[in-house]
Amino acid sequence: MNINDIKTICVIGAGNMGHQISLCAALAGYKVICTDINQEMLNKAENFARNYLPERVSKGKLTQEQADRALENLSFKRSLEEAAVDADFVIEAAVEKLDIKRKLFADIDRIAPPHAILATNSSFIVSSKIADATNRPQKVCNMHFFNPALVMKLVEVVQGPHTSQETAQVTMDLTANFGKTGVWLKKEIYGFLVNRIVAAINQEALFLADMGIAAPEEIDMAVTNALGHPMGPFRLLDFTGIDLAYYIGMERYQDTRDPKDKPSPLLVEKFSKGEYGVKAKKGFYSYE
Ligand code: NAD
Repeated sequence: MNINDIKTICVIGAGNMGHQISLCAALAGYKVICTDINQEMLNKAENFARNYLPERVSKGKLTQEQADRALENLSFKRSLEEAAVDADFVIEAAVEKLDIKRKLFADIDRIAPPHAILATNSSFIVSSKIADATNRPQKVCNMHFFNPALVMKLVEVVQGPHTSQETAQVTMDLTANFGKTGVWLKKEIYGFLVNRIVAAINQEALFLADMGIAAPEEIDMAVTNALGHPMGPFRLLDFTGIDLAYYIGMERYQDTRDPKDKPSPLLVEKFSKGEYGVKAKKGFYSYE
């Protein structure tokens, strides 16, 4: 199998990541079917595409023809069966919970054609934790986009011990066809490259806030001004989702049982109040 065999892509999850990954793929000329268990998320994703594309045309970033073609390429379906049945490549961007991903991969393995590659966009979970839920582990890998996927250039392609060279190569080629820069990790490691670095920063920032050394806004101000980061760790958590950070922390803690991996008290407080960040209009900052 090579990159030219990829014509149809199924994206699972129409949330923060899935709706934009779907658009990246549609803009790159692929036929895309985005699926989600939540019809409201599918409607939101479709509305986003219908607003985003004309906006890009009016800014001169896309031609009308490119926008029309992308919209033609894109469809939204509630049924996983209908979404995956003709897929040559599946990108799973559902919620960051291992049991849900394993169940999804078992289902897709049953539905998608045998040649299809199954990739997860998980932020932290290595694909070897999922691949054995399928009968095609050699066709399973991580394809990790960054938020917002339409803007961020990097994609991490992670080759697990079960992933064939061919699967990793096709995923790298697909990344390039999306207009992204791929980095090929030849071995699995929890959190890959970028999120391990971000996690170390977040952990320290949350510790400093938990200790009452400085408030989140002050820590953000220090990081942006001293390190030149475009946004501080708390603002970034609001954007990427405090719920996501909580689930990632809990998954990690359940795996390692190391108290330092437990989500910080401040993060738990925000999570239990439903203050998930931008998507909930409230997190460490207010977005009303
Ligand atoms: P999100 O909560 O915004 O969206 C997840 C979507 O998955 C929801 O719309 C939900 O309805 C849907 N879903 C849940 N279970 C499903 C199922 N069984 N079948 C189909 N759809 C289902 O989450 P997100 O931020 O888009 O994250 C999705 C994935 O991408 C996660 O694995 C996350 O780790 C990863 N990721 C997130 C970011 C980020 O910054 N948010 C960045 C890179 C990777």
